[in-house]
Amino acid sequence: MTTALKQHQIPFYLPSIGEEEIAAVVKTLRSGWLTTGPQVKEFEQAFAKHVSADHAIAVNSCTSALHLALEAIGVGPGDEVLIPSLTFASTGEVVMHLGATPVLVDCGNEFLIDVDDMESKITANTRAVVPVHYGGHPCDMDRILSVARRHGLRVIEDAAHALPARYGDRPVGSIGDITCFSFYANKTITTGEGGMVTTNDEVIAERVRLMSLHGISKDAWKRFSAEGSWCYEITAPGYKFNMTDMAAAIGISQLEKCHDFWERRQWVAAQYDAAFAETPEIRTPTTELNVQNSWHLYVIRLEIESLSISRDRFITELNQAGIGTSVHYLPLHMHPLYRERFNYQVEDLPRAARLFERMISIPIHPQLSQEDVEVIAGTVNQLVEEHRS
Ligand SMILES: *Cc1c(COP(=O)(O)O)cnc(C)c1O
Repeated sequence: MTTALKQHQIPFYLPSIGEEEIAAVVKTLRSGWLTTGPQVKEFEQAFAKHVSADHAIAVNSCTSALHLALEAIGVGPGDEVLIPSLTFASTGEVVMHLGATPVLVDCGNEFLIDVDDMESKITANTRAVVPVHYGGHPCDMDRILSVARRHGLRVIEDAAHALPARYGDRPVGSIGDITCFSFYANKTITTGEGGMVTTNDEVIAERVRLMSLHGISKDAWKRFSAEGSWCYEITAPGYKFNMTDMAAAIGISQLEKCHDFWERRQWVAAQYDAAFAETPEIRTPTTELNVQNSWHLYVIRLEIESLSISRDRFITELNQAGIGTSVHYLPLHMHPLYRERFNYQVEDLPRAARLFERMISIPIHPQLSQEDVEVIAGTVNQLVEEHRS
């Protein structure tokens, strides 16, 4: 066996692409229409239905979706947007692209945004809050919405991890003012690269659609289709964030399999929960009773005080055993951009910083076999066994 193979016996993630996706892309390539067209329309309609939203606009990434969402509610220079520190780069960078300031909020219960800390950071300049459904576990949306409404803030959900997730009896995608999804290669469904904006607000939907394609008043499909007109007007300096029909063709097939993928990830999570139940040094994620976790991530936390091995060394050992891992995330406030531009200190958001030192994301995806899951859990338990202090 080659070293490369040995290093990645169980990769951290593998997309689940079947013959259906391959056939759909080939069919689209043969159709003569490659960019935003009938496949995108179909994907948008199916997605809106899937999350019970009135409107869905397909774009080329969740980063673009977040950017368009903030633009649509009018975020601009001088504004502040509340976001969790424990998130991916996108959630913060788009705020800065619009000339506004991201204000970082600590974690509360588990990995999710602390609503008390969030409320304490509201100022006269705060325009919006962007909760992240970290790992696929929905945030406390009732509390977030009630605080937001009380202070006149918009709620944009970063749901990059949260398909298919539910909060109470509602799917994520129809709860806040705007919800943004990701179809990046390692997300719960993929189009290679892609994203979706959903909303029940028609004015927001129209603005997002307009700005997603150059601020042109009709999209390309309408423009060139038989019933459309050759004439178009530029009404705003828009972006080039539209999705291609090739990506949408993949998305339509992936969405059909979304529930089956989710069931498989849920099964993996249950196997891990059981395997670590007797290992107090491994803290497993907990799921609130009133939510459906989409299980994009399975993040274990090491009780490093009772172990003689560091988190970093633990990761190295797992990798050497052929198990792919990741860490989600180094909190934003610990990155040079935020330290230098906004003067954040590690202790400003102590719970996110503390979590970071303990967390490891282990593989969770539909391609994992029973044996894979047993090897992963067995290796983790064995490492704990060898390093109990
Ligand atoms: C993946 C991710 C994004 C960005 O998604 P893209 O589709 O890659 O732009 C945004 N937020 C979070 C929390 C993510 O994990």
